[in-house]
Amino acid sequence: MLQIKNLSFGYSKTDVLSHLNFTVDIGENLAIIGESGSGKSTLLKLIYGEFDAEQGEIHWKDTKILGPKFNLVVGYDFMKYVSQEFDLMPYTTVEDNIGKHLSRFYPEEKKRRTQELIKVVELEAFAKTKVKNLSGGQKQRVAIARALAKEPEILLLDEPFSHIDNFKKQSLRRSVFNYLKEQKISCIVASHDKNDVLGFADQMIVLHQKSIIAKDTPNQLYNHPKTPLIASFFGEFSVINDNIYYAHQLKVVDHLEFKATVTKSYFNGQSWLIEADFNNQPIFISHHTKLNKGTEIHFEIDK
Ligand code: ADP
Ligand code: MG
Repeated sequence: MLQIKNLSFGYSKTDVLSHLNFTVDIGENLAIIGESGSGKSTLLKLIYGEFDAEQGEIHWKDTKILGPKFNLVVGYDFMKYVSQEFDLMPYTTVEDNIGKHLSRFYPEEKKRRTQELIKVVELEAFAKTKVKNLSGGQKQRVAIARALAKEPEILLLDEPFSHIDNFKKQSLRRSVFNYLKEQKISCIVASHDKNDVLGFADQMIVLHQKSIIAKDTPNQLYNHPKTPLIASFFGEFSVINDNIYYAHQLKVVDHLEFKATVTKSYFNGQSWLIEADFNNQPIFISHHTKLNKGTEIHFEIDK
């Protein structure tokens, strides 16, 4: 199990993380979410041992993670980290990048393992392509596969699918996260995309103003967001009488319950997102058709 105890860190003068406590079980998928600049990447780098903590401790099983002050070579064999800037070898092929750290004394095993991982990240068609000729998203996939090559016990992923196009994203997420579950590899995923989290994370941590403001399952946090910040991660919402409602929880109706005026409609596939003015506050309602600006509507809260 990964244990984070009373962890604090800052860059020179500015504090970034203050007194964090949490654990990650074997095989667990933990998501770290928070606004840009909230310290997600910093936290992953601390866990990886790239920085020295100002205060507190990090343990993986019985090993205490040490920063560069106490550990000449950053990192441990049981832990791999895929940063937002994946540093690959540009002039070698996808295969060679992934197999780089695998022993050349077992060529058959090396080949089998490399092929297996190429499949996990869905790059079969590019095995022999030089990395410099890949797109950003393809490079990101090579970096994930390379991190998995030597079977880490825990994997740290920083915005792992951010460069990958929507055509590929869904199936790739399933493939990678299912693989980690099957292999019982713990993972911590920093993300600002709810689709990286909702169907996959066992637990979520919300970072805000240096602290963990919530830790729970995606289901709990989605259904009972304690603050607008948490709700905003999941979708459009309105605050009515101090309660938070997602757009699909408000319904346009004939009779008068609440009255609002449409300001704009946005098509979003399954439905339209209606932005309306309610007592001089913007609210968002999901609706099956477009509504024109200025339309007076009534809505109710759908429970
Ligand atoms: P996130 O990944 O959530 O976007 P970061 O961990 O990258 O956030 O950054 C957290 C804060 O630390 C930000 O205010 C950022 O400007 C600052 N920061 C990040 N890296 C450095 C660095 N190497 N030196 C100084 N400040 C940094
Ligand atoms: Mg970051």
